[in-house]
Amino acid sequence: MSRATLTCHEGEAYRITTLKSEGGAIERRFAALCGACNESTMLPERDLTIPPIAVRQKFGRIGWIVAERNARHNRCPNCQGTKRDKTTMAAPLKPVQPTGPTIAQMFQVGSQLDDHFDEKAGRYEAGWTDERISTELNIPRAFVAQVREEGPWGKIRSFDDLDALKAEAGTLKGMIADFEKRVIDAERKRVSA
Ligand SMILES: [Zn+2]
Repeated sequence: MSRATLTCHEGEAYRITTLKSEGGAIERRFAALCGACNESTMLPERDLTIPPIAVRQKFGRIGWIVAERNARHNRCPNCQGTKRDKTTMAAPLKPVQPTGPTIAQMFQVGSQLDDHFDEKAGRYEAGWTDERISTELNIPRAFVAQVREEGPWGKIRSFDDLDALKAEAGTLKGMIADFEKRVIDAERKRVSA
């Protein structure tokens, strides 16, 4: 399932990402992911109707190479040289506790939600949950929920699992009633014997 906002750029190596400002306003921007290092960027451009060639040129102006089709060929400014600065690459990462998803994570989660979440019904397709996306992408579950709720997918309004559990509880109740009846019958037989 693909969102309407993405259809005009289907097959392109960039995407349209949806952002929600603190005031609740939803804004959409062109965004791209580097195929070499997963760095990501967004264009300030607000007109989403410009043709793909213009989009790629605008990415070019901020130092990015965005491929015509295959996002794996996108390159951020750091990944375009043949020689990479080994000292920069080897620099130890500062342990920072992330407070929200990165744009790269928003992309990854958004792509899964496009495929497995029905925003009209407010539910995942069978077998899919925030938890599963979290596990598959190795992204905190809270971030998955955040991307879903702040993006166009929205809150979960229907739970297949819950429906299944209710049905199961009904079956169990029936089994318990049946078991009780058999215990009582056995008890009666013992007493009358
Ligand atoms: Zn890169």
